[in-house]
This record gives sequence, structure tokens and C-alpha cells, in this order.
Amino acid sequence: MSATIIDGKAFAAVVRAQVATQVAAAKAATGQVPGLAVVLVGEDPASQVYVRNKNRQTVEVGMNSFEHKLAAETAEADLLALIAQLNADPAVDGILVQLPLPAHMNAEAVINAIDSAKDVDGFHIDNVGKLVTGQKAMVPCTPLGCLMLLRDTLGTLEGRDAVVIGRSNIVGKPMANLLLRDGCTVTVAHSRTANLPDVVRRADIVVAAVGRPEMVKGDWIKPGAVVIDVGINRVQPAGAEKAKLVGDCDFDSCAAVAGAITPVPGGVGPMTIACLLANTLTAFCRRHALPEPE
Ligand code: NDP
Repeated sequence: MSATIIDGKAFAAVVRAQVATQVAAAKAATGQVPGLAVVLVGEDPASQVYVRNKNRQTVEVGMNSFEHKLAAETAEADLLALIAQLNADPAVDGILVQLPLPAHMNAEAVINAIDSAKDVDGFHIDNVGKLVTGQKAMVPCTPLGCLMLLRDTLGTLEGRDAVVIGRSNIVGKPMANLLLRDGCTVTVAHSRTANLPDVVRRADIVVAAVGRPEMVKGDWIKPGAVVIDVGINRVQPAGAEKAKLVGDCDFDSCAAVAGAITPVPGGVGPMTIACLLANTLTAFCRRHALPEPE
């Protein structure tokens, strides 16, 4: 293996420590601390784990955490009423509605009901538009975390060829826009892309956000490229008792060729919550006209 392993777990701990320091300073300046409200509808086990981790880490950096658990059969109107209440609550700076929502709800309508200034997930249409047009936006947490890791690894991203595999609204598209904003030449690949390995071979930066275990192989990677693996896939290895987590990249073969690579777990994953906390602090600072964190 020749690649440097990008330690997202350690980097996320640094981000959280910076947020904690800034929360303390914000408290000294205003007498208040940022508050994050997390809304979970239903009992999806993975979502329950995410929400628990979010609440714990929110409290650890000194912010207030408000957890709202609603039954799976909750009417959309009741969820919208809760969102209206949180929009109006001065103690709440950030609102996150955990996705996926139950099938009877219109996720787009729910997300767009959140006050865009409190939309710490960055999925509200106003924030999407602002990101695309280069205005000050709330930026989705997972791509923001990837960008931080890339800047830390490479310094400036200007002039680099970047290939993002995946075009979802929560990862692929915002990632492509962030890379474009930083001066990369960006290709967005997806399930209809022809000759994907050849497309990926051009890239100085590869961001894989596909949801297919170990799909990207080492012989797709340009020697020295930086590989950011967003994928979180639970697989059951033959003969093994326990399932394990793997990314969208075949780690061993990619690490043999890449200059740097994120592992799964311990790469992008921990950055997502760290960025959520950073976004909540940013929302608080904007509301209180304090200088924004970097
Ligand atoms: P989606 O399923 O919404 O999107 C997957 C994308 O991959 C689609 O654009 C799809 O193309 C593309 N795709 C699927 N198959 C192929 C293929 N064979 N070749 C090329 N492209 C393909 O997933 P998400 O964006 O929500 O998530 C992607 C991965 O990231 C998942 O593993 C998820 O668990 C993980 N994730 C991790 C997070 C973290 O905190 N680390 C946070 C969010 C997600 P098309 O549009 O044409 O269908």
C-alpha cells in the first residue's frame, strides 16, 4: 500500500474541538448557546443510531440538543406544525429532519418548510440555489466534510480534475458544486455514464458516492490521485459471523495506487456530524451578527 490514509475520525475531533471553543466564546458574547433540534419520524434502526450520535455530540460541544421523536404514522400536517414551532423558537438555531421520511410524507415539502436560515442540512431549495449560484449558503454536511478533507490533503484544489461518482441531491450534486466553487474541473458520473473506469482514470480527485460495495477498483485510479470514499455499505463476508462496513471503493487495490484515501469506517462518516455542528454554530452566529467561523 502506498497511499496516505486520511484520518477522518481525528480530523472530525479537531473540528468538534474548534466548534466547542467557538460555542464557549459565543456564550460569553451573548449569554446563549446554539441549539440544534433533530426530528426523527418512525423507527428506522440506522436513523435511530444517527440521531443518538448527533444528540450526544451536540451536547459534548456545549450546544443545546432538542430531540423530537414522532411515530411513523404521524400525519404530515403534524410534522409541518412542529417545524413551524421550531422555526419560531428563538432557542433553536438549527433544524434537522432525519431522512428517509415514511412513504406517506412528501420529503421535499417538509424540507422546504424549514426556515432556510435554520436548515443546517443544506437541503432547502433556497440553500441549494445559493450554493449553485455561489452565494453564502448552508452547505450539506457530508460533501462539506469531504471538501475539508480534500483541502487538508491537497491545499488548493484549483485546476484539479475531479470526478464525482453519484448525482444524488444530498451528496453527489452538492459535492460537484463545492468542487466547482474551489476551481476544479468537475465531471459528475452516474449509473448511465459510459466507460466509467476510463472517466475515473482522468481524475486527480475521485469522490465515490454510489452505494455499491467496493465498486471502484484500483486499476480505475490514476496513480497519486486522492480518493474520497463516501459509501457506507453493510456486507456479510462469506463465513464471517458479523456483518462489516465497506465503502464504494475496493480499499486495498485503490490504496495501492492512490496518493491518499479515506478508509471506511473512519473517513468521511465522522466528518458529517462535525459539519452539522459547525453549520449550527454558523446559523447561530449569523442570527446574532457575530463573526462567522471559518
Ligand atoms: P443515492 O442512492 O441517492 O445515489 C447513488 C448515486 O450513485 C446515483 O446518482 C446513481 O446514479 C449512482 N450509481 C448507482 N449505481 C451506479 C453505477 N453502477 N455506476 C455509476 N453510478 C452509479 O445515494 P446517496 O448519494 O444518498 O449515498 C451514496 C453512498 O454514500 C451510500 O453508500 C450512502 O450510504 C453513503 N452516504 C454516506 C454518508 C456519510 O455520512 N458518510 C452520508 C450520506 C450517504 P443514478 O442517478 O443514475 O441512479
